[in-house]
Amino acid sequence: MRFVRQRSVGAIDRRRSLPLTFGSPDMVEEILYAAGVSAEFRRACAAGWDAIPPPVRRLLCSHGVTVRGIRSVADDMPKFAATPVGISGRMAAHLQAFHRRGRIIVAESHVSLATGRVEITDDPGAYLCHEAGHAFDDVIGVTSNNKSPAFRRAYQGDVSAMTSESRVELLYFTQPRVGRRETFAEAFAVAVGLPTPAFEDQFATAFPRSVAFVRGIIQEQSKAVQ
Ligand SMILES: [Zn+2]
Repeated sequence: MRFVRQRSVGAIDRRRSLPLTFGSPDMVEEILYAAGVSAEFRRACAAGWDAIPPPVRRLLCSHGVTVRGIRSVADDMPKFAATPVGISGRMAAHLQAFHRRGRIIVAESHVSLATGRVEITDDPGAYLCHEAGHAFDDVIGVTSNNKSPAFRRAYQGDVSAMTSESRVELLYFTQPRVGRRETFAEAFAVAVGLPTPAFEDQFATAFPRSVAFVRGIIQEQSKAVQ
């Protein structure tokens, strides 16, 4: 995979004026793009990254988290494309984005699970924020090793208050084992203002306690370094 270095756009002055407690400015600004992605895709990814408060971005960068924009998993990661991932029989080629070992990868297009056709990813910046939520979770250790009983309580409270219909509709977030992890990541996307398009209002309505919890730790993180 060939990557082209390009600085993310927007909000640079604001960011530079903050104390750089974590990492260097260059680490913060850079998103790596595969050759061939569109300017529109780059702008959308940059807008997603910029939606995340600077102290949180710096924390992620200081832990070696990187963001990459690719054409599609099939084009740029062909060996990985046929690997099964998650629920509903998805393969990696179906992914709009994913996070693995500190790498946030966002794809400009993906194979639609519904139609089997290649489709442009709707709102890649929102997918970037969801994956950044996973990266943030890994860095601060909320859902891993049950380190935060408070988040577990918030999540259980939300799931218990849901109708069984909602629980099925939001199966991605209510499923055993990974549901809590996915909820943290999506609550992060909601908290920074860019929820995954498919779940937009539904998720925020169904998981108010989880969203409030994640919003709270983003604010704590932001205060801690100012
Ligand atoms: Zn996820």
